[in-house]
Amino acid sequence: MAVVIVGAGMAGVQTAVALREQGYTGSLTLLGAEPHPPYDRPPLSKDVLLGRAEHSRFEIDFDELGIGLALGRRALSLDAEARTIRTDAGDLGYEHLVLATGAAPITLPGLPASAFLLRTQDDALALRAALRPGTRVVVVGAGWIGAEAATVARQLGCEVTVVEAAGSPLAGALPTEFGERTRAWYAAAGARLLTASAVGGVTTGSVQLTDGRELPADVVVVGIGARPDNAWLAGSGIPLDDRGAVRADARLRAGRDEVFAVGDCASFPSARYGRRLAVHHWDNALQGARVVAANILGGELVYDPVPYFWSEQFDHMVQVAGVIDPAAEQVARGEDTVLWLRKGRLEAVLTVDKPRDLAQGRKLIDAGALIDPTKAADPGIQLKAA
Ligand code: FAD
Repeated sequence: MAVVIVGAGMAGVQTAVALREQGYTGSLTLLGAEPHPPYDRPPLSKDVLLGRAEHSRFEIDFDELGIGLALGRRALSLDAEARTIRTDAGDLGYEHLVLATGAAPITLPGLPASAFLLRTQDDALALRAALRPGTRVVVVGAGWIGAEAATVARQLGCEVTVVEAAGSPLAGALPTEFGERTRAWYAAAGARLLTASAVGGVTTGSVQLTDGRELPADVVVVGIGARPDNAWLAGSGIPLDDRGAVRADARLRAGRDEVFAVGDCASFPSARYGRRLAVHHWDNALQGARVVAANILGGELVYDPVPYFWSEQFDHMVQVAGVIDPAAEQVARGEDTVLWLRKGRLEAVLTVDKPRDLAQGRKLIDAGALIDPTKAADPGIQLKAA
């Protein structure tokens, strides 16, 4: 049996490792478009950008595990009937295929050389070299990447302006009141934040807003989201959802028994949340990989996680477990923890610098535990099942 994994990011690497851990001894190839040894992305907008780490390579001995790395090699198209991947260095056959191509950042048209994206190691190292004390940096987008890039740029002594089209930071991801709360973090860090401000164009030396304002910019960082990187699957018959993610089933199979999809490139149905989820976070790439490995080896595991992510911004650790539905009952637990309940059960928890609440909340969500909202609202009482 030969397994080929397309995409050597977190999801692909962890699938390969999990296959070996779960006893798979057959041929295993990890195909990755980037030429670098596989690496982890979260440090790119944190320690790597700050210059505290040179790289964020996975500490994995691929040779020892018998994982064949085919790096700097891109999958161009898929003949699913013939079980063959066409790559820029020849065809590759498989018996099982794992799609783990992640996501590609959304960009703006006509960007000059002074503009940077922040998705790859090359992006992070190039941006790092451009961030000097006094550099005028304009960050486009106050989402996760924008907030983290702005944090680091301020730490490096740059003059920072963040431009956000929505009315508040983190608008796509979190309820407005929470995004509003982070406004003060920008101010405290000395970063200027312009919300409800759309970028009309970026040229060398400046960013133009659609309302006519012009912002001087030595460096521009574009952090306006990412889309599943699945264009190479066009015509393959592998099902994609309306956002371009591979439409996996509950066992992460992708339209055929021998094809699986995991990580940022895929969406899956969640019985827990009653809808299809596409989760662009690190923990999803880790947990999903283990399920894919087990199912390749004949298991029938259902993937229905409590999604989890964290973000380190402006000296705060923001963590979320579960899926926030603003329509669910919201319970404030002190200043720094918010809970969302449905029919008495905990559905999601958001914390700022409260790792203990996060850990307990995550377990309670996973267990489907009933919660007493009055007790849960008291930060002096441990968060637990009713
Ligand atoms: P990716 O990591 O994108 O890996 C996919 C790989 O596939 C890429 O290397 C790509 O080059 C390769 N590929 C694509 N197409 C092809 C092809 N056709 N042929 C061959 N190879 C191909 N999440 C958190 O929870 N917390 C954080 O703090 C956090 N910080 C982040 C900071 C940054 C800067 C970024 C970019 C992401 C961050 N994330 C964070 C998100 C997290 O890193 C991703 O969810 C995770 O990397 C997804 O892993 P993946 O393997 O699915 O995709």
